[in-house]
Amino acid sequence: MAYATINPYNNEVVKEYPYATEEELQAALATGHALYKKNRKQPIAERAKILHNVAAKLREHSDELARACTIDMGKLLRESEGEVELVAIIADWFADHGEEIIAPEKVDTIATGQAEIRHSATGIVMMVEPWNFPYYQIMRVFAPNFIVGNPMILKHAANTPASAQMFADVVKEAGAPDGALTNLFLSYDQVTEAIEDPRVQGVALTGSERGGTAVAGAAGKNLKKNTMELGGMDPFIVLGDANMDDVNNIAWRARLYNTGQVCTSSKRFIVMDNVYDQFVDALKDKFSKVVPGDPLDPGTSLAPMNKASAKAKLQKQVDAAVEAGATVAYGNKPIDLPGQFFMPTILTDIDKNNPAYSQELFGPVACVYKVHSEEEAIDLANDNPYGLGGIVFSGNADHGAEVAAQIETGMVFVNNFMSTLPELPFGGVKLSGYGREMSHIGEMAFTNDQLIVKADKPNMDNLAGGLVATDPAPEPQHS
Ligand code: NAP
Repeated sequence: MAYATINPYNNEVVKEYPYATEEELQAALATGHALYKKNRKQPIAERAKILHNVAAKLREHSDELARACTIDMGKLLRESEGEVELVAIIADWFADHGEEIIAPEKVDTIATGQAEIRHSATGIVMMVEPWNFPYYQIMRVFAPNFIVGNPMILKHAANTPASAQMFADVVKEAGAPDGALTNLFLSYDQVTEAIEDPRVQGVALTGSERGGTAVAGAAGKNLKKNTMELGGMDPFIVLGDANMDDVNNIAWRARLYNTGQVCTSSKRFIVMDNVYDQFVDALKDKFSKVVPGDPLDPGTSLAPMNKASAKAKLQKQVDAAVEAGATVAYGNKPIDLPGQFFMPTILTDIDKNNPAYSQELFGPVACVYKVHSEEEAIDLANDNPYGLGGIVFSGNADHGAEVAAQIETGMVFVNNFMSTLPELPFGGVKLSGYGREMSHIGEMAFTNDQLIVKADKPNMDNLAGGLVATDPAPEPQHS
């Protein structure tokens, strides 16, 4: 698909962007590689200063950035504004803590001399990002790798080109050198070409299994380290003793935030039988109160989905679920507006053979299941091809944490909304991918963890248990 901003609220084609040329890709690789070499000699503190400035510039341009994001992919303006503030927080955090995270580590060893691990840059990181959080997805890779010294090439989603370019422009305006982040409107083949290039040493993708399989395949074929942040079908478990006021206050937000287009949206609600009816009633009530409309208007609380094909795919999935026996407890009716609106919908009675049981529904559709025991709740949470996040509501937070520990996902929140912050590692298991972004773990994703062992002179008394060559036999003497 070619790059274009098509406003999902009114379907207006705002601007189209041509694909990058071969020369642009080659220039980005050359500039990035030259910067990598330079970064290896630059004190990290200098990059930290620039990263703080990136945060300041993001806040300075918050209004334009938020507006561009909303017009690109449709989310509510206040959610776009929140996203800009979040990315500024992430930049500040890595500017403050990034150097300490990659400080050299001493290693206790019986080897002769002193051993340490030094974490350093490895080269250009190729990042491929999705449209659902156009700035946040870039920042999760950009901030840690900028501190480490890895230059980056960005291929953003085809429907968020304005946001991608604005982010790269702000980075430049903040004083980052050429090559630190080069946004290119690459085709899929050009992404593969970049991954094949020896100057690219890391590949980071956030997106679907489809995109992940293709990009991880190219990375694997070329032996490039990669991280995959993919889809999810996060469980939201309501135990029988949960505080239902809290549950009802959070559940609808956990599904409708960003019009349900969040990898960590709660997509599988698992509710104990004693509170099931009141849960479904409260969810219906909240879903019925949202106001669809222009996402730039502060009175709107239901934004359109990001593009026509996403809405069509979701409708097809809901139709298939109903065809396979699911009950529509609420919604699934058209919204009389020209944009890509999807009425918040609740599906129940989904059995294991229903396609909705094992597919990610990436929009405002809640699948609700009734269970009769905690064990059944945990089994249902784990009978899931994905393993990204999850939420557990329990009357006792410690018990909630015990249940959380039995859920096979990368992140679980107890008695709270799932949130994302720079100090918290983000990522999953199973089809949700591998690797972590953000936190100290994310900062190490594309470092060379180089071992250096130093001694003043070799110690021939310590031959490491015979793992070195012994002296050769003496030469025979000839008379
Ligand atoms: P997608 O189709 O995989 O797109 C994501 C990115 O990958 C886009 O830039 C896309 O480019 C690119 N891409 C797709 N196929 C490619 C290929 N063969 N070669 C090179 N690039 C390729 O994902 P999506 O459906 O738009 O995004 C939503 C998905 O992302 C959901 O499944 C969601 O759960 C997941 N997600 C995961 C996380 C996480 O952190 N785990 C966070 C957010 C979203 P084009 O736009 O040009 O196709």
